[in-house]
Amino acid sequence: MVNTISILGCTGSIGRQSAAVAEHLGLRVAALSAQRKIDLLEEQTRKFRPSFVAVYDEEAAKRFRIAVADMEVRVGTGLEGLIEAASLEESECVVTAVSGAIGLRPTLEAIRAKKRIALANKETLVCAGELVMAEAKKHGAEIVPVDSEHSAIFQCLMGREKSELHKILLTGSGGPFRGKARAELESVTPQQAVSHPNWSMGAKISVDSATMMNKGLEFIEAMHLFSVTPDDIQVVIHPQSIIHSMVELIDGTVIAQMGVPDMGLPIQLALTYPQRCESMFEHLDFYRLRDLSFEAPDYEKTPCLKLAMDCAREGGLAPCVMSAANEVAVHAFLRGELGFNRIYDAAAASVEALGHASAPDLETILEADRAARIFVTENYL
Ligand code: MG
Repeated sequence: MVNTISILGCTGSIGRQSAAVAEHLGLRVAALSAQRKIDLLEEQTRKFRPSFVAVYDEEAAKRFRIAVADMEVRVGTGLEGLIEAASLEESECVVTAVSGAIGLRPTLEAIRAKKRIALANKETLVCAGELVMAEAKKHGAEIVPVDSEHSAIFQCLMGREKSELHKILLTGSGGPFRGKARAELESVTPQQAVSHPNWSMGAKISVDSATMMNKGLEFIEAMHLFSVTPDDIQVVIHPQSIIHSMVELIDGTVIAQMGVPDMGLPIQLALTYPQRCESMFEHLDFYRLRDLSFEAPDYEKTPCLKLAMDCAREGGLAPCVMSAANEVAVHAFLRGELGFNRIYDAAAASVEALGHASAPDLETILEADRAARIFVTENYL
């Protein structure tokens, strides 16, 4: 269990829940970072009294400095600030809850500083999985997943030999539009897309759940985290989100991890691992649980999932380009500037144009990320 943590992206959905868990566990929060929501950031700063706070947006950082002028706290800004928050000496663990590819460099710096990574930023492994896992191995930094599915798989594999694993069963609820044909989704509004049936999440990931790109990103993430091939992972639709994922062992035994669908649980485990502590969350009541159902994904209706699985197989720059294009398209959709079905179109076209190349180093990856964003902006917005 760790005692001192830093939370990157502390005003987002995972960040706020991480702060609540840290408070529940009585942990010291040494560093915080946010993009520009300085009201909430100030509230958190007054509560946790961190040594360092990073505000990504420069204008917001100026206002934040004034707001906390009465406190003894150092304030940084931009990517540099984010990196400082990630590698702060007194922290043992960094919760990486920033959304998007911006999380990549800070996560790498935290790894190099040998922190435990409570990984909640999908793009890190999607864009640079090989690189990040190799760095973690080199520096002996633990990566403990916060995403509920990966936390479930992590828990199912605890204390087990890799050679006992037959396959990973990655579950997903199917999102708010499960079973709907693409034509029916043409005029979906952002509000419809962000109302997930089971989970309360940030806007970007909620849209990703609606397109099922989220499951595709998780597929790629799982490959890297557990060093398996695409053939070792099977996506299973499980609408109730009670089972958070499973592993099948070589003898045919299936181990599932269950719990109420609350991100607080995997967050807490990432901080207390390998210990378990009492949590502030509801426990499962099996007398009230009704049917747990399962089905195969329908790739015709969820082309984003199929695209991501194809990119996982292709490797190289494909996952990074897809993820960056998707990020830009989703934010445009949320602003009402792009139709729901165009998210897939933009991601697929970007991969076609820019994704078929190898990803030898971080610079190449970041360059592909930039190129994909420009491609979507020029061709779809
Ligand atoms: Mg998830």
